[in-house]
Amino acid sequence: MPAARVLIDGPSELVFDYAIPEGLPVVAGCRVRIPLRNKTSQGTVLDIVETPGDLGFSLRPLHSLTEPEPLITPKLLEAGRWIASYYGCSIESVIRALLPEAVRTEDNSAKIRKTVLLEKDPDPELLAKITKRAPKQAAILALLSHSAERKIALADLGEGASASVKSLAKQGLVLVHDEEVRRDPEADGIEEIVADSPLPLNDEQHGALEVILSSLHLPDSEPRPPILLHGVTGSGKTEVYLQAARRTLDLGKTVLVLVPEISLTPQTVRRFRARFADMQDQVAVLHSNLSQGERFDEWHRIRKGKARIVIGARSAVFAPLPDLGLILVDEEHENSYKQDQVPRYHGRDVAVLRASLEGCTIVLGSATPSLESFQNTLEGKYQIVRLLKRADGQSLPLIRVLDMRLESKKHKGGMAILSDRLRVALEQRIAKNEQSILFLNRRGFARSLQCPACGYVCMCAHCSVPLTYHKEDERLMCHICGHQAVVPRKCPDCRDPAIHLQGFGTQKVEEVLAKVLPSAKIARIDADAMRKKNALRDLLNAFQARKIDVLVGTQMIAKGLHFPNVTLVGILNADIGLHVPDFRAGERTFQLLTQVAGRAGRGELEGEVIVQTFTPHSPSVQFARHHDFDGFAEQELEFRRQFEYPPFAHCAMLTSRSTHERRAEFTLQTLHRRLTEDCPPGIIIGDPLPSPLVKTHGQFRFQLMLRSMKARPLTRHVQGVLQKTTLPEDVTVVFDMDAWNF
Ligand code: ADP
Ligand code: ZN
Repeated sequence: MPAARVLIDGPSELVFDYAIPEGLPVVAGCRVRIPLRNKTSQGTVLDIVETPGDLGFSLRPLHSLTEPEPLITPKLLEAGRWIASYYGCSIESVIRALLPEAVRTEDNSAKIRKTVLLEKDPDPELLAKITKRAPKQAAILALLSHSAERKIALADLGEGASASVKSLAKQGLVLVHDEEVRRDPEADGIEEIVADSPLPLNDEQHGALEVILSSLHLPDSEPRPPILLHGVTGSGKTEVYLQAARRTLDLGKTVLVLVPEISLTPQTVRRFRARFADMQDQVAVLHSNLSQGERFDEWHRIRKGKARIVIGARSAVFAPLPDLGLILVDEEHENSYKQDQVPRYHGRDVAVLRASLEGCTIVLGSATPSLESFQNTLEGKYQIVRLLKRADGQSLPLIRVLDMRLESKKHKGGMAILSDRLRVALEQRIAKNEQSILFLNRRGFARSLQCPACGYVCMCAHCSVPLTYHKEDERLMCHICGHQAVVPRKCPDCRDPAIHLQGFGTQKVEEVLAKVLPSAKIARIDADAMRKKNALRDLLNAFQARKIDVLVGTQMIAKGLHFPNVTLVGILNADIGLHVPDFRAGERTFQLLTQVAGRAGRGELEGEVIVQTFTPHSPSVQFARHHDFDGFAEQELEFRRQFEYPPFAHCAMLTSRSTHERRAEFTLQTLHRRLTEDCPPGIIIGDPLPSPLVKTHGQFRFQLMLRSMKARPLTRHVQGVLQKTTLPEDVTVVFDMDAWNF
C-alpha cells in the first residue's frame, strides 16, 4: 500500500507515514493537513513509500491537500536531498529554504482589490439621461472610459462611490469583481523605466552568445556542461545575458538570474525590465528582504509561470520556475553566495546542481572567476568563453602601484593614509569636475602584524599564512597548524621598532580627506553608514547625479556599479587583505583590486587607478596591475595544489561556541579526539584552536579545519561523530562544509 511520508512543520523534525485517502492526488512535494495526536497539523510530503500489508496496525489517513498541486517540484526536492546530505544539515532546514514561511502559512494570501470594469458604453441617449439625473454616475463612466484597460479600483473612485457603482452595475454598464493585485517589491524608488533594445554585439560577445545558444538548443537528453563566462570589467557581459535570456523565453522556457547581493538586485532588475519592457510584469524579484506579502505574490507568480524571469540573491536559486531553460550566475566568485546560516549551502554550487537536474543551461559570469570554477574549465568539466575587451572600446584602466613604505618614511613612524600622488590626482579630478572613488580594504583589519617601515608581515613558517595577533596574551598564532610565536620587539626584517598593529577606518579617511580637499563633496559608504533602509540607494543615486565628488567606501563599492564619470579610483591599503590567515587571501585581494579598478573609466573618459601598498611585489598586486588573470590563476593554483587547499580538496570548518570559554574549548577537543580516533583515509583533521576573533558577542569560539579530497566521506564522518556525542547544553557546534571564512 502506498503511503505518504510527511515531514511535519515545526522544529522537532517529525516524520510520519500516513495513508492516502482514495482518489487524493498526493505526490512528493505536496503540502498536506494531517492528524497529529489529537490535533490537525501541516506538513510536506517527502516521498511516497510502499508499506508492507502486514504492518499489524493501519496507518492514519491524512486529511487533505492544502493546495491541489505540489508546491515543491520533484527536481527541487531532489536538490534539497542533495543539499542535506552534502552540507550535513537536516532535510527540514532545507525544506524551510525551499518553501519560505510566507508561502507555507495559511493565513497569508493574495491581496484582493475590488475593481470596477466598464462593461459596455452607454448609448448617447442613455448617457444624456444619466448625466442629467446622476452626475456622479456619469463622472465614473467618463473616468472608466478614459482609463487603461477600462478599469479602476473601487477604492480609487473616492468615497461614496459604491452606491453609484451599484446602480451602474444594475443597469449592466459596469462589472465589479475581485482582482488579485501584485505587491511589487521594486515598484517604489525606481524611476520611469525607459525601454531599450538589444545592442549589436561585438565579435567576442557574439561568440559567447553562440556558445550559450548551442547549449540551449541541445536535445533534452544531452548533458550541458556549465559555461564560465570570463569577461573583463565593462566587457558587456550583461548584454550577453540579456540576449541569451530573450532567446530562452522565445523557446518557451524560463530564466533565473542570480546576483551576489540584495543591494545589487535593483540595478539588475532595472536593466531587465528596460529590455523586457514589452513584458515587464514577467520579471519577478526574490530575496530575503521582501515582505511576507511580496514574497507570497512573487513566489506564486513564478510557480504559475506568470513571471518567467526571476532575479534574486542567493535564496532565489530555489525559485519554483517551471520549464527552466537558463540560469545566469553573475559575479560567480563572490563569497556572499555562501549562506552563513543553516542550511549553509553555496548558491552558485546549488545553481550548478539544479541546472544539471533540470537539464538546463547555466552560465557563470565574472571578471575574476573563482579558482574553483576556473579549475573546472582546465579539467574540461566546464566550458570557458572570454570577453577580453571592453565593450565601449576603451582600454582597461592604467594601474599605478605606489610603494607606501616610502610614504611612511616621510611621515616618520606615523601611518600614511593618503600619498602625495593620490592627493594630487584627486585635486586634478575635482578641478575638472570628474568623480573619484576611494576604496578601503577592511578585511583582516588589525589581525596580523605588519611593519610600517618595510611592509614585513609575520608569517607561519609551516603554512605560509600570516600569524594572527592575539591581544589578550600578546602572542602570535597560526590558525592552521597552531604554531605560536612571541610578538617581536623590532621588525625581524628591517630592525625598525615601529612594528605594531595598524589600520584605519573609512571614518578616519573621510576626516583626512575633508582636511586636504576642503572644497570637495565627500561621502562615505560602509556597512555602518548604510544601516538605514534605502540609504545605499539614495547615496548611489546622488553619486550618479554627480552631486558627490569623492566616494569613500569598503568592499561594498567594488561590485558591479557603473558610473561613467568616474576617472580615478584609489585603493588605500591594497594589501591588508593579504595578511589574514585564510588561504584565499591572495585570491580575494586579486579579485578586489581587479573589480575596484574596473570602476574607473567606464564612460568616454579614460580611467586611472592608484594602488597604495606596502607589498608592491606581491603576486596579487602585480597580476592585478597587468590585468593578468591567467598568470595569477596559474601561480595560485600551484600553491593550492601543494598545500592541498580548494579546489584540490574540500575544506570544512567545525566551530564550537559558548559563553563558557573552557566548555567551548573542551567540547571541540573532545570532538577532535573522536574525529581522529577512527578517521577514514583521505581526511586531514587540523588542531582545535581559538578562532581569530576568539570572543564575539560575549561568546568564545574555537575552530578546527578539516580537509578531504571527497566531500561526502568528510560530512558523513563529522555527522557520525556529532550524533554519538552529547554536547553540553550551553555549547553550540557548527559544521560548515566548503567554508568561506577561516
Ligand atoms: P560588464 O557587466 O561585463 O562589466 P556591462 O554589461 O556593464 O559590462 O557593459 C559595460 C558597458 O558597455 C555598458 O554601458 C553597456 O551598455 C555597454 N555595451 C555592452 N555591450 C555593448 C555593445 N555590443 N556595443 C556597445 N556598447 C555595449
Ligand atoms: Zn602554521
